[in-house]
Amino acid sequence: MKKSTTGEPAGQTPANRKKAPQGARKGSNVTLRSGQRAGTTAQSRRDSSSPVRNPRRRTASPAGPMNPMNRRAVSSQRQLQGPSSRGKRRKKTLLEQLPRPVAALIFILCAVLFLFGLLRLLGAGKDKVPPVISLDHEEGYVVMPWQEYKEEGFSASDDRDGDLTDQVERSVLEDRICYKVTDSAGNLTVVYRDIPYDTGYREAAGKDFPKIHIDDPDAEGKAVYLTFDDGPGVYTEQLLDTLDRYGVKVTFFVTGSFPACEDMIKKEDAAGHSIGIHTLTHDFAKIYSSDKAFWKDIDKMQAIVQKQTGHTTNLMRFAGGSSNSISANYTTGIMTLLTKQAEQKGFQYFDWNISSGDGGSEGDMNMVITNIISGLPNQDACVVLCHDTKEYTVKAMEYLIPWLLDHGYSIQPLQFDSEPAHHGVQN
Ligand code: ZN
Repeated sequence: MKKSTTGEPAGQTPANRKKAPQGARKGSNVTLRSGQRAGTTAQSRRDSSSPVRNPRRRTASPAGPMNPMNRRAVSSQRQLQGPSSRGKRRKKTLLEQLPRPVAALIFILCAVLFLFGLLRLLGAGKDKVPPVISLDHEEGYVVMPWQEYKEEGFSASDDRDGDLTDQVERSVLEDRICYKVTDSAGNLTVVYRDIPYDTGYREAAGKDFPKIHIDDPDAEGKAVYLTFDDGPGVYTEQLLDTLDRYGVKVTFFVTGSFPACEDMIKKEDAAGHSIGIHTLTHDFAKIYSSDKAFWKDIDKMQAIVQKQTGHTTNLMRFAGGSSNSISANYTTGIMTLLTKQAEQKGFQYFDWNISSGDGGSEGDMNMVITNIISGLPNQDACVVLCHDTKEYTVKAMEYLIPWLLDHGYSIQPLQFDSEPAHHGVQN
């Protein structure tokens, strides 16, 4: 059969034309393929320029199951596509790359942690334990009535917040210290410390330590000579114990008024205190009746001092002091005479420039302490008159001595060349 003018394939019958749609598709397909071969269209040029897409179309077009040859072709084609093709797809996450059991385990762990945090947030695990404050105690530490409490130390800790010492609020109350601390959850702890005051003063005096405010810029190192007249007596040993406790040395102007206590002179001297003669009898009428009577009395006392201590003394104090006017009742001008004679005999006599006020029949600890402390700023060297025959004076020393030491004063025993604090003779 020859080629028709319409271009229809040769041998096509009217019956064949009824199947035109199917035949046309096949025909157009065939036509396109024949046109490709001819290489006449632009599309065909673009297709042929791609070495990848073109073969794929060829392998996909045949109908029917893929044969082994085709599979190899596809496989090799995929290898050809290489990394440039995969890079265009979404990358797998780290979790997706993990084996499934491991990923599940991580998920469960995250969920548990999330729930735990949520519970804490909701208050299910709220901190209900308050912090703990611990107070340190220095053994034997007591606060004297005039002293401020010196902190012995404290610390604070919390089960969750750790050390909270820096956050403790400390306040000083009348007789105790208050310590407060709060943890981050708001739990508050408050503890108190009783200030370890020495209550002896109140028990002995029946009142509080006198509130004395003195201004003595020269207090540091200023000499204070505590002198005790008219003993030794029944309270002298107690005084010696107090002096020994604070390690201070004083001066005793001794008498023979209490023969049973005579051996205390030995103890006083042995402890390093100064011993001076005050008279044997302290009997004004007797000793100021004449200068002979006076020196006879003094010599007897000197003998007792020598017996007790093994040596004599060149320190003395007149009964009533060199300025006493009572002596005028017995001998006019006797103090003028006696003070000169004392010098000639090699004695230094001492008066005082601060009196404790305990010479009379009335008195108490407050009076002694107040009188002495208030007199200190007025003297360059303080020669203090006291009597160890007065119980309240001896008791007052338990407080006065530490007060003097706390305030910088230097408690010393009188020596021959110490400040004599002469009053000036009046008779
Ligand atoms: Zn006296």
